[in-house]
Amino acid sequence: MLISRREALLQSAVPLLAQARPSIAITMDDVHWEYIPEDRRSEAEDRLLSHLSKTQAFLFAAGGAVDNPHGAAIMKSWSAAGHRIGNHTYSHKVSNKMKPEEFEADILRCEGVLRGYSGFRKWFRFPALKEGQTSELRDRFRSFLARHNYRNGPITVDASDWYYNQRLISRLTAERGFDVSRYREPYLAHVWDRAQFYDQLSRQVLGRSVPHTLELHYNLVNALFLGDLLRMFRSKGWGVIDAEEAFSDQVFTRQPHTAPAGESLLWALAKETGKFADRLRYPGESGEYEKPLLDRLGL
Ligand SMILES: [Zn+2]
Repeated sequence: MLISRREALLQSAVPLLAQARPSIAITMDDVHWEYIPEDRRSEAEDRLLSHLSKTQAFLFAAGGAVDNPHGAAIMKSWSAAGHRIGNHTYSHKVSNKMKPEEFEADILRCEGVLRGYSGFRKWFRFPALKEGQTSELRDRFRSFLARHNYRNGPITVDASDWYYNQRLISRLTAERGFDVSRYREPYLAHVWDRAQFYDQLSRQVLGRSVPHTLELHYNLVNALFLGDLLRMFRSKGWGVIDAEEAFSDQVFTRQPHTAPAGESLLWALAKETGKFADRLRYPGESGEYEKPLLDRLGL
């Protein structure tokens, strides 16, 4: 069918508009609910779900964290709220810390725990984003996942929310009355800084701003500040989109030939070009990069 010139112009304008306005989706890992201090747990868990009432997230659950009645209740309520659940191994051990056949068995064991929930989809996330130390292991895991009809669920925006959370919890343990709101500004600034970095990398490496997937964790710091984080992105002109929509972008089918494999997908695609060495630290993100700032702030 012939399309009019006007339609052709409109169609070609769509990618440009999409590019002008970056977008981000929330993925949340682990579901280690038991690490949330008990006196704050119930409220924190309600808040995590309510922060995401307008956005569909992808929850990559470690089977061992949710293989219990409390974890099962979380999986049920997140499924009922329309969120997606992906596989994050059973024991949450990093792929380079065990034999490859054990790692693969751990993936299947997790599936046994998760497959009954309506939100479950065959998407996988590597613990600590480590996809294989060598090219042989990387390719072995890729073909294992493909054989079992899994897609890898990479992130494009990497951050250290887990480290902010860990510091906050040790502080609360030492000082019960600690004012948790002191973490708000530094935490939002950290995620914003990382989003800017990875978005710029996306434009430089791919020539466009991809629909981003942000890696967060099911934890206290996000129970406290995820609502503020989403408002921050919106106020700065970013769209907050559903995780499944983000994952439908073709960038998520890319399989960079880097070793050790993993990190942010954008980090790996940049690394693969051999051109961005000065901008790529390894690991991409880590608590050690955040420690000096939090020490300085007395947090
Ligand atoms: Zn994890």
